[in-house]
Amino acid sequence: MIKAITGTKDILPSEAAIWKMLEERVIKTFTNYNYKEIRTPVFEKTELFARGIGEDTDIVGKEMYSFTDTAGNSMTLKPEMTAAVVRAYIEHSLGKQQSLNKLFYISPMFRKETPQAGRQRQFHQFGAEAIGSSSPLLDAEMIQMVYEILTGLGLKHLSVKINSLGIPESREKYKTLLRNFLSGKKSRLSEDSRKRFDTNILRLFDSKVESDQEILKDAPLLIDHIDEESRQDFETLKNVLTLSGIPFQVDPKLVRGLDYYTKATFEVISGKVGSQNALCGGGRYDLLIEQLGGTPAPATGFAAGMERILLACENEKSLTPPDEKIDVYIVLVDRQLTREAVSTALFLRKKNLSVDFDYLGRSVKAQMREANKYNARFVIFIGGDEYKTNKIVLKDMSSGGQVLIDKDDMEQMFRAVKTEISL
Ligand code: AMP
Repeated sequence: MIKAITGTKDILPSEAAIWKMLEERVIKTFTNYNYKEIRTPVFEKTELFARGIGEDTDIVGKEMYSFTDTAGNSMTLKPEMTAAVVRAYIEHSLGKQQSLNKLFYISPMFRKETPQAGRQRQFHQFGAEAIGSSSPLLDAEMIQMVYEILTGLGLKHLSVKINSLGIPESREKYKTLLRNFLSGKKSRLSEDSRKRFDTNILRLFDSKVESDQEILKDAPLLIDHIDEESRQDFETLKNVLTLSGIPFQVDPKLVRGLDYYTKATFEVISGKVGSQNALCGGGRYDLLIEQLGGTPAPATGFAAGMERILLACENEKSLTPPDEKIDVYIVLVDRQLTREAVSTALFLRKKNLSVDFDYLGRSVKAQMREANKYNARFVIFIGGDEYKTNKIVLKDMSSGGQVLIDKDDMEQMFRAVKTEISL
């Protein structure tokens, strides 16, 4: 038997309803904030991600699904959306059409990670990017939107962590401070951290090794050394979050190690999903557009992992999928009348009702079982004694009541179903 690839998952019909609920909430929230949807291809030139995410990151270093096409070009299945959105923004000159572009997406992503709970190789993210303004109100808006979505799903065990990375100039000065602080301690760092010391010293704070964290305990913190403008923007962000009733913690260790990340960064953590506990991550990237060849434009955004969010919903028992119903099930009492069943179904489906009937030649009893399984609101019986007098029986499955309808008066049948009269 051929099985799905490790780290990928089927979303079966029984799960699809809950995915749809999540997607509808996401779309509604983004629409309320006036974000417009953008869809980009599933694969891009590898170079885009190498430049747009950064060579030093785990994603680019070891997690990309890359392949060479027959023309010898290196392609990569998208591991995240920001680089792809920025590529599209530049390519289509979206900045010329609109000075501020507020964009959102829902899309599968691909990363060659070791699969575990909350970590897949194909997973889904929704997220937003606002390109064209350096206002901290937009950083706050990102957090407002994701917080609204998550709490709207009934999630309670959430914590919002924020930090500011400042601008590259203040960060460079801070890096010197950090290097000085660690100079006599480097040999005691783990091997990974020693490497990061040389390549990307900020990412030392990401280390999960306890002894590294012990050494870093008294290290100077970037947040205490950011420039004045970043500090003021951070104050605004905090004030707006407070105004919005969003509880948050400043986490000075929340760093992104790339130079084009600037100022605000944030994460939302769930206390209910185990070790892979980040539901979402985001922040400002004022220098990325220029880095990818566009006219400089400040920008901010976030991405949230949908599988993890649904796992949190499951663990907090916060979501009940809606009962799936169909409007009408047609029970064929007399097989000779298949034609009538087909045309009745066609008529009602064209009227936008969900309708089904039996394709397997089953008995009336079995068809009724099927109608119950599908939670049909109404059953129409075609055939039997009533049919001989040109009548069709319409049965309301919740009340059990039934009426006779003229078999040629489909409009009457439609009206009866549509108005949901309890028969
Ligand atoms: P990132 O793009 O790495 O900042 O990730 C944003 C969010 O996507 C994370 O907070 C997770 O919720 C989700 N995510 C990232 N990688 C994976 C993965 N391999 N499997 C499932 N969800 C993921």
